[in-house]
Amino acid sequence: MTMNKRFESIVVGTGGFGSSCFYHLATRGVRVLGLDRFPAGHAQGSSHGDTRIIRQAYFEHPDYVPLLRRAYDQWRELEAWSGRELMKICGLILAGPPAGEAVAGTRLAAKTHNLELHDVSSADLAREGERRFPGFRVPDGFDVVVEPTGGYLQVEDCVRTHIELACKAGAEHQSEATIVGWESDGRTVRVRTESDEYEAASLILTPGAWADHLLNDIAGMPTLHVLRKTMHWHQVRSSVYDVASGGQGFLFEMPYGAFYGFPSLDGSTLKLAEHSGGEALTDPLLVDRSLRISDTKPIGRFLNEVMPDVDPQTGRHSVCMYTVTPDGHFIVDRHSEYDNVFFGAGFSGHGFKFTSVIGEALAALAIDGSTDQPIDFLGLSRFQS
Ligand SMILES: Cc1cc2nc3c(=O)[nH]c(=O)nc-3n(C[C@H](O)[C@H](O)[C@H](O)COP(=O)(O)OP(=O)(O)OC[C@H]3O[C@@H](n4cnc5c(N)ncnc54)[C@H](O)[C@@H]3O)c2cc1C
Repeated sequence: MTMNKRFESIVVGTGGFGSSCFYHLATRGVRVLGLDRFPAGHAQGSSHGDTRIIRQAYFEHPDYVPLLRRAYDQWRELEAWSGRELMKICGLILAGPPAGEAVAGTRLAAKTHNLELHDVSSADLAREGERRFPGFRVPDGFDVVVEPTGGYLQVEDCVRTHIELACKAGAEHQSEATIVGWESDGRTVRVRTESDEYEAASLILTPGAWADHLLNDIAGMPTLHVLRKTMHWHQVRSSVYDVASGGQGFLFEMPYGAFYGFPSLDGSTLKLAEHSGGEALTDPLLVDRSLRISDTKPIGRFLNEVMPDVDPQTGRHSVCMYTVTPDGHFIVDRHSEYDNVFFGAGFSGHGFKFTSVIGEALAALAIDGSTDQPIDFLGLSRFQS
């Protein structure tokens, strides 16, 4: 074992959240080391599969909206620094029963924060038929809300860009580094990989689906459930879904599950997935990456009922993981015992859009001891009350 290269800060797990934190630490002048078992932009965790939805009228809770405003600014800043297009605003259609989580929650968040939303009732839809949303057969009794500021992020490019710009700013990044343990005395942290040991003044842990292995000694940490999820790419039979011709993202809250997807980026396929459901996993490294009938059946049913111009047969697929907290909200906090250890975990299948801002907040906690970002509602203490 080679010993003790010293840094000001170490980030363990440079996927979605860790790569952003790594970038923010480096660009604030911190001598930082980023460590990950896999290469930047890999497909073994939770941040791959081309795209992630971004939206502002957040049905999960209106308290996320101020963070989302900052997240959008941070994505635009990253695009400006890198010269790459990472975020595309194309609009997002959310459809479901008027009292359901998606429609009612989106309306509440938009009203609370005065966000633009186009509201289409089931009565309007009955009058206008399929003309209003070409390519979609909206079920009877559903309301639709359209968020014009919704869109998508190019997920792997976001991760790689954060890491590349951090390294340009002087940070050190190592992939193929599996962390086997860490300890802290409150002032210095020691991180052990299979072959090396490193020291730093602070440590940020963002291990995604592997949170159990690295965060399990934190007092008050709830059990996080890791779920196997599949993404599906399907052929389109019409240009109505093309992003270049005004195709939008979508989310439908059906009686048998929630389904969401993206416009066609290449004019011939589009990606969609089921947000609900998912098999619980015990070891993220051993997830079954084959395509099962139980994955394709609900997707095929949804396409047959709602998107008649999409081939219901899955072409390509990819397996990914959600790491879910008991209340479905993230956990971002300082370690209960060590003031110099911070972590982000349990992003519950809706975290990627926030990586830009949560990375900034975690970096500020490590550097300044506090952050201006309103993240208190994501603290561990909520599980104690
Ligand atoms: C199918 C699917 C669709 C989704 N859709 C959306 C969406 O549309 N919009 C949205 O906002 N969010 C979405 N999400 C959620 C979002 O993608 C995740 O919340 C987010 O990517 C999680 O990032 P993370 O940094 O926690 O995990 P990851 O990106 O997986 O990063 C964790 C990293 O830690 C590393 N690591 C862990 N343990 C160790 C160790 N011991 N040693 C070394 N390295 C280690 C891993 O290798 C990995 O790189 C989706 C998720 C999935 C699975």
